Amino acid sequence: MTELRNYPPHDQWHDWTELDAKAWPDKKERKYTIVPTTCFNCEAGCGLVAYFDQETDEIAKIEGNPEHPASRGRNCAKGPATLNQVYDPERILHPLKRVGERGSGKWERISWEQALSEIGGRMRTAFSEDRHNEIMYHVGRPGEDGYANRVLQAWGVDGHNSHTNICSSNARIGYQSWMGHDRPSSDFANAEVIMLISAHLEAGHYFNPHAQRIMEAQKNGAKIIAIDPRLSNTGAKADYWLATWPGTEPFLCLAIARELIEQETWNGDFVRRWTNWETYLQRQHPDLPLEWSSVRTAMLREYAEYTPEAAEQKTGVDAATIREIADLIGRHPTKLATHNWRAAGAGNLGGWQVARCLFFLNVLTGSVATKGGTAGNGMNKFSPARPFGSKKLTKWNELEWPREYPLSYHEMSILLPHFLKEGRGSLEVYFSRVYNPIWTNPDGFTWMEALKDPDMVRCHVALTPTWSETSWFADYVLPMGVSAERHDVHSYETHAGRWIGFRQSTFRRYAEIKAEREGRKLDPHTPSYDYNPGEVWEENEFWIHLSWAIDPDGSLGVRKFFESEEHPGKPITVDEYYAKMFSENVPGLPEAAAAAGQSPLEYMRERSAFGVPTDPYEPYERPVDPAAVEGCAKDERGVFIKPGTSGAWSGDVADLGDVALAKLGDGSPAVEIDGELKEGFPTPSKKLELFSETLADWGWPEYATPTWIPSHVHWEDLDMEPGPDGSGGNERILLPTFRIPTLIHTRSANSKWLNEISHRHPLWLHPSDAEKLGIEENGLVRVTTRIGHFVIGSWRTEGIRPGVVAASHHMGRWRLEEGEARSWGTGKAAIGSSANDNGGTTWKLKREHGNAPYDSSSSPQPDDDTQRIWWTDTGVHQNATFCVQPDPISGMQCWHQRVRITPAEPDDEYGDVVVDTAKSREAYLDWLSKTRPPEGPLRRPLWYARPLKPAATAYVLPEEGA
Ligand code: SF4
Repeated sequence: MTELRNYPPHDQWHDWTELDAKAWPDKKERKYTIVPTTCFNCEAGCGLVAYFDQETDEIAKIEGNPEHPASRGRNCAKGPATLNQVYDPERILHPLKRVGERGSGKWERISWEQALSEIGGRMRTAFSEDRHNEIMYHVGRPGEDGYANRVLQAWGVDGHNSHTNICSSNARIGYQSWMGHDRPSSDFANAEVIMLISAHLEAGHYFNPHAQRIMEAQKNGAKIIAIDPRLSNTGAKADYWLATWPGTEPFLCLAIARELIEQETWNGDFVRRWTNWETYLQRQHPDLPLEWSSVRTAMLREYAEYTPEAAEQKTGVDAATIREIADLIGRHPTKLATHNWRAAGAGNLGGWQVARCLFFLNVLTGSVATKGGTAGNGMNKFSPARPFGSKKLTKWNELEWPREYPLSYHEMSILLPHFLKEGRGSLEVYFSRVYNPIWTNPDGFTWMEALKDPDMVRCHVALTPTWSETSWFADYVLPMGVSAERHDVHSYETHAGRWIGFRQSTFRRYAEIKAEREGRKLDPHTPSYDYNPGEVWEENEFWIHLSWAIDPDGSLGVRKFFESEEHPGKPITVDEYYAKMFSENVPGLPEAAAAAGQSPLEYMRERSAFGVPTDPYEPYERPVDPAAVEGCAKDERGVFIKPGTSGAWSGDVADLGDVALAKLGDGSPAVEIDGELKEGFPTPSKKLELFSETLADWGWPEYATPTWIPSHVHWEDLDMEPGPDGSGGNERILLPTFRIPTLIHTRSANSKWLNEISHRHPLWLHPSDAEKLGIEENGLVRVTTRIGHFVIGSWRTEGIRPGVVAASHHMGRWRLEEGEARSWGTGKAAIGSSANDNGGTTWKLKREHGNAPYDSSSSPQPDDDTQRIWWTDTGVHQNATFCVQPDPISGMQCWHQRVRITPAEPDDEYGDVVVDTAKSREAYLDWLSKTRPPEGPLRRPLWYARPLKPAATAYVLPEEGA
């Protein structure tokens, strides 16, 4: 008999005994080996532990890892559901090669050797012919810090493409334009006021680590303000739920900011010390004396129109509540934690000002990286340097970084099929990795057209744990591991503290522990696909071996980056790579490991996470040793400049010749504040940028300060009231961005538990709108967008602002074959042309049937539960009907849609999706015309972050005609 406890004690993880729950009421003991890893089912990277049954050598269950500093043993439903993904009967277990037409669903099983040789040979030819820009790696959920980038650098390929501009580009540029860090890191646990423009208690960024700390703070008396047109679970738990009109959130923040300044409840001394107010006055208010006392006057003048009454009219939140919240915030200086990610930031044209105006409140209250405030991601995220070197990238790929978007954050990935179609380039090898653009991205049919065309994409390699709408059109489908089957490191800014997580193949680790128990040793060169289910591999080992296949004799200069130091002439192993990283590049880890009597790698294999020692608060205030600025020039702003650098670029600025250098950035060691040398922020001014000279100098002076940009779905521009003759009046704003807490983009379809919990996404519709629009209770609705329409069921609810409708993302999965690419969440569909198709550009996705029980006994991983599927709904693929709408500054897809809502027509059926890709192209050109390409010699500000930052010379625009 033992006492109750939350988790098995660590010293018993290798040999743990507990009663078999399924054997109850018999008290049957089962023996387990517990192996830690981290979750890959969202971006939070929470700790997990896999319970290996010592009798079957299989994972019996997956639970939380109490030793993980961010998740602290807790998980959402998606963490334990990793088990479903591992043993899913329809997962891809072996490498496959297409044998029929693209998209015909005909495949042959091949060996890993064949896949490596064929793909590697193709790439070797491309590299030999200097066609590096024809290789692209397009990643959805990266979940890892840097290994893929190391690979691309070693190849000399500027080929990193991401999902960022369907996710977070707007929030990033909003934060980055203040503090140089492009993500917020909120100290929720110690906050007294928490203001969220997202649904953090169910789905926000890093939501489980955040949610548990937000709840702790509320228990301690903190007030929560949730801003969302939809009553999310977060809104329901909040002290204030503010249902703003979509896109007016910056207006609301500025009205609060104005109140703080007018009532003098702002933290003026912090603003004086840490903002670039001199530049603000010089460039925005040159008529005022250049002295601190002018700043309040300038701000009150600039924000004069943002009164609470004006905000009430614009946002829909009453003026008294705005004053009450401003008063609340003003009474808690330095203790305001705010956060915006996705949500309003991702929905609207100019949505990047949501983050900029929200963080303005942190600046005004001095709540920047304070205890209970909001810091920058770089202050709390820890990314260890990558061992084994890499080389400087000298290429620039305009398929990802087109010159029309010099400030984009980051790659313009949603425009790739349009660029391919208009002949800006083509791809020799396109790797999609945990990415499903045909289903996830806007304008999916344009993606399908491009991916089907062998002249645009000559070889598509889908690296994926599961079937998807996109992998169906690939040439090779290569099975990659989920979180229990792969190695990587990662770190996220989940709270005021730093940590590093180590995902590992639990199957390999279990085999290692078992071998140790039996007095054997594993061969470290054995690939992890020998341990994982089927031949499921992991990216890191795949990249290493593919690099050898590209450059078998080393003549291309690629192989050397993937060669073992311990065993020259052999590929490096994951053990060798991470042993070196953990021993040399993670402060405090070697000491902690030594104290436990282990090597750093053993320590991480036993725990999968490590809290990196840190002092998280106010790093910008840290004093700088005067020796660090010796030889530096000091400019008029007190910024020290290293000789021969632009500040932002510490390496090879001299290569730029006569090119005018960008303003300073993170290459500068210090800034002088009140006569003292301080670390400051990684911005050109080393301060928080109230006035962004970068935005002003790169074509957008009207948006250089926090301001409101009317959204493309601004409610005052919509036709929401019928005319005198009763016509019209059926436009509404569609919110398609919110997540259901238990679903995960593409990967959740392969989890039976998650699909049993969540398998519907009706259109949220306020009862008053339903009445006006003639939509019956639960009635079918036709939602018409700029490029097509979809047909969906409806749900009358007062949990949505009138004038706004909403349907969650993560639903509407489909497959084209009855017996293939099946999952717990896909319906059988057919793609054809529409009856109205005159020019061969109109597609119709027709749902043939939803989910149904089936027999999986012939699967290598049979599951009796496939016979018990009782739900039929799989949702509607709404994203396909959205055109690309990239914000002209950040490049973010502005997800919200201006739609017409009408009752379904007689021939409409649930799940119908109709799109005209000719209209998609018109919309693309329309949004492209909003951009302002650079007028200077550079493609992009040197100090701006971008994945795989190349050498400064690559930033120089080629001469016209070159
Ligand atoms: S929040 Fe849930 S899905 Fe995300 S990492 Fe944590 S357990 Fe996994």
